[in-house]
Amino acid sequence: MSSEVRFVDFKSDKQPTWCPGCGDFGTMNGMMKALAETGNSPDDTFVVAGIGCSGKIGTYMHSYALHGVHGRALPVGIGVKMANPELEVMVAGGDGDGYSIGAGHFVHAVRRNVDMTYVVMDNRIYGLTKGQASPTSREDFETSTSPDGTNMPPVNPLALAFASGATFIAQSFSSDSKRHAEIVRKAVEHDGFGYVNVYSPCVTFNDVDTYDYFRDALVDLKEEDYDPTSREEAKEVILSGDKEYQGVIYQNEDSVPFEQQEGIDEPMNTVPDGAPDGATDLVRE
Ligand code: SF4
Ligand code: MG
Repeated sequence: MSSEVRFVDFKSDKQPTWCPGCGDFGTMNGMMKALAETGNSPDDTFVVAGIGCSGKIGTYMHSYALHGVHGRALPVGIGVKMANPELEVMVAGGDGDGYSIGAGHFVHAVRRNVDMTYVVMDNRIYGLTKGQASPTSREDFETSTSPDGTNMPPVNPLALAFASGATFIAQSFSSDSKRHAEIVRKAVEHDGFGYVNVYSPCVTFNDVDTYDYFRDALVDLKEEDYDPTSREEAKEVILSGDKEYQGVIYQNEDSVPFEQQEGIDEPMNTVPDGAPDGATDLVRE
């Protein structure tokens, strides 16, 4: 572990344009802390971002980064990890990016279980496009695209991950900075696909799922009272419906990352003819 790396070393010199008070500030700080605490440095970290307010994170963090197209950050992240398994790969996006257009990729990234981290900044709204209902918006949430509410139940992303064979499922709250960083750290340390859904309030367009709401509603799954290795306990929490939980909800401690499984070919160590100049720079020799 390179102990001299501090979390501020992961901050770029770009000034975030997120609205003052946006939950994404706290989400990003926790990700940077988790990376520093797990001994990573900007030059061994690759952040892949989706599209949306959350997608700007690749610019605000100091690391290798790539801004994927809408909903496609996960397959890009998997490609990066397969090309160079020594990189710490962190994919970040929002609830719209990850659970709507990217929902198919989410399911298959979960089941492939490549050793990487996926952080979803879940504010239950489309923020960048100015406040439309997202997959995790409440059924009665009135927005410009749902003036009478969505009349659909919100996607339960934790259930989607669980049903797809996830080996690590967690949830955190961007404002509970210490606990959020600890939960993301556990996802980074997990051997496999570490998935964290982060409640990251949009202070501009969501006046329902606010900081106050989450502060009051959150139930913390503390290690002393909860066993995340139990599928039965995880199922109960994930399907409870009326509560908001934070903590590691499920972890399969026997998880073996896809790329380390027997029968999987050696990671790609060449790039195809015609690839852009410099495309080989990050590929493992
Ligand atoms: Fe954050 Fe919402 Fe502003 Fe986007 S619109 S930066 S999600 S507060
Ligand atoms: Mg959103």
